[in-house]
Amino acid sequence: MMNRNKREKEYYSIDVGDSTFMVLKRYQNLRPIGSGAQGIVCSAYDHNFERNVAIKKLSRPFQNQTHAKRAYRELVLMKCVNHKNIIGLLNVFTPQKTLEEFQDVYLVMELMDANLCQVIQMELDHERLSYLLYQMLCGIKHLHAAGIIHRDLKPSNIVVKSDCTLKILDFGLARTAATGLLMTPYVVTRYYRAPEVILGMGYQANVDVWSVGCIMAEMVRGSVLFPGTDHIDQWNKVIEQLGTPSQEFLMKLNQSVRTYVENRPRYAGYSFEKLFPDVLFPADSEHNKLKASQARDLLCKMLVIDASKRISVDEALQHPYINVWYDPTEVEAPPPAITDKQLDEREHTVEEWKDFIYKEVFECEERTKNGVIKGQPASIGAAVSSTPPPSSSSSSSTPPRP
Ligand code: AMP
Repeated sequence: MMNRNKREKEYYSIDVGDSTFMVLKRYQNLRPIGSGAQGIVCSAYDHNFERNVAIKKLSRPFQNQTHAKRAYRELVLMKCVNHKNIIGLLNVFTPQKTLEEFQDVYLVMELMDANLCQVIQMELDHERLSYLLYQMLCGIKHLHAAGIIHRDLKPSNIVVKSDCTLKILDFGLARTAATGLLMTPYVVTRYYRAPEVILGMGYQANVDVWSVGCIMAEMVRGSVLFPGTDHIDQWNKVIEQLGTPSQEFLMKLNQSVRTYVENRPRYAGYSFEKLFPDVLFPADSEHNKLKASQARDLLCKMLVIDASKRISVDEALQHPYINVWYDPTEVEAPPPAITDKQLDEREHTVEEWKDFIYKEVFECEERTKNGVIKGQPASIGAAVSSTPPPSSSSSSSTPPRP
């Protein structure tokens, strides 16, 4: 093991916003670029690999069950998963020297230019919109192939680069996760959660298709599709627009939820032509008119309350609006093997979590001492720029296909 002095010399401390980052000296020029429930994210320049990176600080990730489970799951899964549409882990470290002193974990990731919230404000052409959706679906399919159903996809957890490439940042809800009550003061965004999640029903992989539908709708409309202020209001927003679901759907609910749902006012809902009228789409040519009708058709197949009638990820990938991008190497990449099958079921005390997370970080540090975790080339980051994400007006960021 490295001696204490040597280790101390490798790190330096820098204030970013309200937080202090204690990072390896190879990472310089830290700038805050975002924050989430887990902590602050900075961009930085990695002098060893001569590329820009993103560094996320997890402050005392073992502090409670919710934080600990999420941090541990994320660490383990990020190490296993290797797909171009899922964020890749380049390095992990902790500046503390012993388990007793252990406090913070730093995750070093590929740096992207913006999250999807920022892209939603832009007017996207069909080419970019469909390419972004295709990549989301590829990433999701890859997670599903590994047995990971996300259930909590949202624009803030999806990042893009100015060349229109896209990556999913996180792995969503653990099957047994607490519902976020412990995550205060952060307000949990529920706008993208499927009816089966809101109503506490069983779910299958196409739970994530609903979220993609909500995100697509928001990219088309420029505003949140179902902006519920809480669980109850979330359901109201869904039925006001899509209409009260059928009796067949109500029968799948447990008694108390069914009583609640049945006692809501009845709504007829609106047609998808009304929900997503032509003016929302670029439809200035015959080609664009066709694309607009395909886009609307995809929306109406994804935004189906009853999951048994909603399209699957595979069907979405085959849909005419999306399949123009289909590349088997991206869609059918071999799934990662997740070795810890009990990942979602694990329950530990704070002290145990501290130990497990420390061991995981230590193992990562050992593995990355002489390289990067998944053997990603050191030079790919050179192209990272601070240019804004894709917009229909910039011709230099056209997606590479078809
Ligand atoms: P998170 O803590 O993972 O929810 O991330 C919070 C925010 O930080 C995201 O919404 C992004 O805006 C930004 N962010 C996180 N990771 C990256 C990354 N690898 N590249 C660029 N921005 C990122």
